[in-house]
Amino acid sequence: MSELRKDIINGRWVILASERSKRPDDFRPAQPAKAEAPPGFCPFCPGSESKTPPEVYAIRKPGTRRDRPGWRVRVVPNKFPALNRGLPPERQEDGIFQWMDGIGVHEVIIENPDHGKELFELPLSQVQDVLETYRRRVDSIEDEFQYKYVHVFKNKGREAGASLSHPHSQIVATPIIPKGVNEELYSCERLHRLYGECIFCRIIREEIRRGERLVLDDEDFCVVTPFAPRFPFELRIYPKRHSPWFTTLAKKEMAGLARTLKTALLKQKAVLGDPPFNYYIHQGPNPHLPHEAWVNLEKSYHWHMEIIPVLTRVAGFEWGTGFYINPVMPEVAAGFLRE
Ligand SMILES: [Zn+2]
Ligand SMILES: [Zn+2]
Ligand SMILES: [Zn+2]
Repeated sequence: MSELRKDIINGRWVILASERSKRPDDFRPAQPAKAEAPPGFCPFCPGSESKTPPEVYAIRKPGTRRDRPGWRVRVVPNKFPALNRGLPPERQEDGIFQWMDGIGVHEVIIENPDHGKELFELPLSQVQDVLETYRRRVDSIEDEFQYKYVHVFKNKGREAGASLSHPHSQIVATPIIPKGVNEELYSCERLHRLYGECIFCRIIREEIRRGERLVLDDEDFCVVTPFAPRFPFELRIYPKRHSPWFTTLAKKEMAGLARTLKTALLKQKAVLGDPPFNYYIHQGPNPHLPHEAWVNLEKSYHWHMEIIPVLTRVAGFEWGTGFYINPVMPEVAAGFLRE
C-alpha cells in the first residue's frame, strides 16, 4: 500500500509508492534492461494479454473474448500502481505530520494493437476511439466518490517518463485534488470575479483575434502557444464551448478533438523531429462531489489539454524557484508550427 504525505509548508501531497520499491542501484543511469523482460517482449502487444492484469475495458471486434486478441483499445490496471483502489482514506495526523493511505486508481490505456504506431499515425476514427476510451474511464471512475480528481495523461518516449514503448496513456485518480489543479481552479474563480467571465473563454477569444500565438483554429477547438509558456513549443488545446469537464464532449466535438490533437502532434513532429512529449487533460474535480470550495466552478473553469515536448531539462533554477527560463518566444514557436 502506498502512502500520501503532505508537505505542510507548501501544501503539496506526494505519493510514496513503496510497492514500486527500488534499490539505489535501480536509479543509476544507463540501466541494462530488466532480466524478466527479454528484448522484443512487450506486455501490451496482442497475444500477451495474460501478462497484464485483467482488462477493465476494451473496444474489440465482435465475437472476440476478454483478455484475448481482437481489441482496438484496451484498458488494464497498472501492474505496478502508484495508488490502489480502496475505501475513502482517512487523514491521519501525528503533530505536524499528515498522511493518508494511498487510495486511488492507476490504469493504462493501450492505444492500439500495433507496437510501432504512435497515436498521431492512427486514422482519425482510431484516435477518436482512444479519446472516447478516456471519457468512458473517467466517467466510470468518477462514479466512485472517493476519487476527487481523475487525471488523464500520456508520456511518450523514455525522456518523457514512458517505461514501455508501446503507445499508451495513463489514468491516475486521487483522493485529493492535486495542488497544480487546485491552483488553476482557485485562480479561475478569482479571475471570473475580476473579469465577469471565464478567463479561458476570454483567452480563446483574444488568441483567435490576435492570431500571433494561434497554431490551429478548427470548428470546435483551437491550438495556441500560451502567452507565458514554461517550455519551448508548449501547446494548449482549448475547446471553444465552455465546460469544466472533458466528459461533457458531444460526439461531434470528440471527432473535432481527435482531428485537432492528431494535427497538433503531427505539427510538433514536423517541426521538432518526433520529440518525446507529455500531454494531459486539465478538468474540473469529480462532478459528483459537492465542490463548495468553488462557488462558481461551473462558470469559471474550462477544461483543456496541455502538450509539452521534452526539449529542455528542468534544473536548479526551476526546481528552486518555480520560475522557468524558456529560450523560445511563443510567437516564434507558433510561427513555425503554423507553417
Ligand atoms: Zn507492444
Ligand atoms: Zn470558458
Ligand atoms: Zn491547465
